[in-house]
Amino acid sequence: MIQLIRGFRDILPGESERWQAIEDTARAVLSDFGFREIRIPILEATELFTRSIGENTDIVEKEMYTFEDRKGDFVTLRPEATASIVRSYIQHKLYAGDPFHKLFTTGPMFRRERPQKGRYRQFYQISIESLGSESWIIDAQIIQIFYNILQELKLKNLIVQINSIGDSQCRPYYKKLLVSYFKSREQSLCVDCRRRLRENPLRVLDCKEEKCQRIVSQAPQLIDHLCESCHRHFKGVLEFLDEIELPYQLNPYLVRGLDYYTKTVFEIFGENATKTEGEEPSVGNALVAGGRYDNLIKLLGGEDTKATGAAMGMERVIAALKLKGIKSSKSATSPIFLAQLGNLAKRKSLKLLEDFRKAKIQVAESFGRDSLKAQLKMADRVEAQYALILGQQEALDGTIIIRDMKTGKQETVKLEKTVKEMQRRLKK
Ligand code: AMP
Repeated sequence: MIQLIRGFRDILPGESERWQAIEDTARAVLSDFGFREIRIPILEATELFTRSIGENTDIVEKEMYTFEDRKGDFVTLRPEATASIVRSYIQHKLYAGDPFHKLFTTGPMFRRERPQKGRYRQFYQISIESLGSESWIIDAQIIQIFYNILQELKLKNLIVQINSIGDSQCRPYYKKLLVSYFKSREQSLCVDCRRRLRENPLRVLDCKEEKCQRIVSQAPQLIDHLCESCHRHFKGVLEFLDEIELPYQLNPYLVRGLDYYTKTVFEIFGENATKTEGEEPSVGNALVAGGRYDNLIKLLGGEDTKATGAAMGMERVIAALKLKGIKSSKSATSPIFLAQLGNLAKRKSLKLLEDFRKAKIQVAESFGRDSLKAQLKMADRVEAQYALILGQQEALDGTIIIRDMKTGKQETVKLEKTVKEMQRRLKK
């Protein structure tokens, strides 16, 4: 038997309703905040990601699904959505007229990470981007939006961690400070961090190894070395969050794994955030992560345009909801169930279902089942208030039985009056 590829998953009926409910909630909040949907391809030129995410990042070095297509071009299954959205913004000159755009997209991302709980090789994100503004208020708003979405999904006690990683003004000097600090302690760092020290020294700050964390805890912090403009920006973000009473924690070691970030970076965790070594990384992983990327649009060939964005991981949110025992509000229920017996009844059922559909009344059925008992069991399962029973005799007589599933009371009505009668009963 051919099985799924490792790190990939099927989302089965029963679970897909939960996915839909989360997407509905997110769409409603995003629409309130004026975000519009953009749909971008899953496959892009490899260079788009190497240039934007950065050559020396885990994603580009180890995790991308890259292959040569039949003409010898290198293409990559998108590991994230920001780069594609920015490409699209530039390519279609969305900025012409009005540079300010609020966009969102949903869909699968691909990273060849080590599969484990909360980490898949195909995972889904709701990704939002606010392009065209350098205002700190936009950073805070993006945090607010995801905070609202998670709260509407009934996730409580969320933890927002925030930091500023500066910009091209202040980061190079800080990097120098950091490298010289770590260099003098290099022998005590893990093998990975010794490599990071040469290639991407900021990443040493978020190493999970205990021995590295001990060294990191004494390291100089960027927050103390921000330039005037980054400092003002960060202060502005925090003041806005204070203003809307959105609780946050400053995390000076939050650096994020993608090179394009500038200034604000943040992550949102569920209540059981566990960042200690050895703990099962399930909902302890970030539900949402993002930040500002003021240089990316220019880097990808666009004008000098500032932007902020973030992405929410669907699987992580679902894991958090399950852990808290929060059920999906959307389930496979139906107010009416139509049961049928015999061929003539089956045929008449099709017409009746069509009439219900036109009247926009949802009716469940189970044509695959023949016995009435099995069909009424299904009616219970979809929590139907009424079962309509079209037996052989009723089909001949042009009637139908309406059964109140709660009381068991039955009544026979004319077949052509069924939709009207059910409309009346459901209105009550
Ligand atoms: P990133 O694009 O790395 O900033 O991640 C944004 C969000 O996507 C994270 O906070 C997670 O919720 C989710 N995410 C990232 N990588 C994975 C993965 N391998 N499996 C499941 N979710 C992921």
